[in-house]
Amino acid sequence: MKCAKCTRQAEVKIPFQRVAFCREHFIEYFHSRIRKAIGRYRMFSKKDKLLVAVSGGKDSMGLALALKDLGYDVLLYHINIGIGEFSDMVQRKVEVFAKDFDFELEVESVAQNFSGLGLPQLALLTSRKPCSLCGMIKRYLMNRAALRHGAVLVTAHNLNDEAVNLLRNVMGWDFEQLSRQEPVLPAREGLARKAKPYIFISEYESAAYSYIRGIDYVMEACPQSGGATSHFLKRIVGELERRFPGFRINFVRKFYDNKKSYFPYPEKPVLNRCKICGQPTTGEICSFCRLKLKVEESLSSKS
Ligand code: AMP
Ligand code: ZN
Ligand code: ZN
Repeated sequence: MKCAKCTRQAEVKIPFQRVAFCREHFIEYFHSRIRKAIGRYRMFSKKDKLLVAVSGGKDSMGLALALKDLGYDVLLYHINIGIGEFSDMVQRKVEVFAKDFDFELEVESVAQNFSGLGLPQLALLTSRKPCSLCGMIKRYLMNRAALRHGAVLVTAHNLNDEAVNLLRNVMGWDFEQLSRQEPVLPAREGLARKAKPYIFISEYESAAYSYIRGIDYVMEACPQSGGATSHFLKRIVGELERRFPGFRINFVRKFYDNKKSYFPYPEKPVLNRCKICGQPTTGEICSFCRLKLKVEESLSSKS
């Protein structure tokens, strides 16, 4: 099969559009898709500083590189979540990536925020599921880092993630989550602006891009991850895409482009500022600070 743009052999096929590209034209096509998503939802501009949250996986490192090539001001931010050797290996990959591609990188660890404890110990201490705890901690730290730098927080949620989340939210008619599922969330008091430029990029395209760009990314899944429901929904969305090519992008794009008329659900007002850290919370003390208190309490009762 030939490239849609030149006479070279095609290397990457885009099934839902029935086209294929050589490496050079795939990169061009890929960048134009990201540029369009950024423009369509007015995510950010070249004047903004972007704090790109990198997990060590293909999506976030590929996104950082694409944004840098497109001329954006990018700072990388990584959280070591403290799952022993796995997290240290991930951090090393992020550091090598930053060095090889000439990025500024800031690393923060869960342990430095919770008296030396990593995610597995925190999950044990609170009897909470590691994934939901990890999500809460990452959201807090990422937001705090973006505010500290006066930056837009950029994450690499991809089309597969968005379709799975949308399906999950629709299945439960979770209007609150549906109203908050957005390509970009504006800054509010205590909350940084958040953008997701990869919302229309599939996992396959993202992997092809990162591979072609020579990024050495972490392939292993997080040892703590893997809720049965998430895996199941991922499989279902994959099957729907195979049966109806283009399903995912239509499902997600039509939702984003029409959601205001269908889901005029008001965003939950942020009532208070956390008494300890000042970040917005619906209670008196935010969940991050409550976790900190719990850790300190348990450590002092042991000593
Ligand atoms: P996840 O919550 O694991 O699905 O990840 C969603 C997005 O959050 C990723 O695309 C990254 O941009 C960011 N992210 C996930 N894990 C980390 C991490 N350990 N450090 C920094 N950013 C992360
Ligand atoms: Zn070509
Ligand atoms: Zn707090």
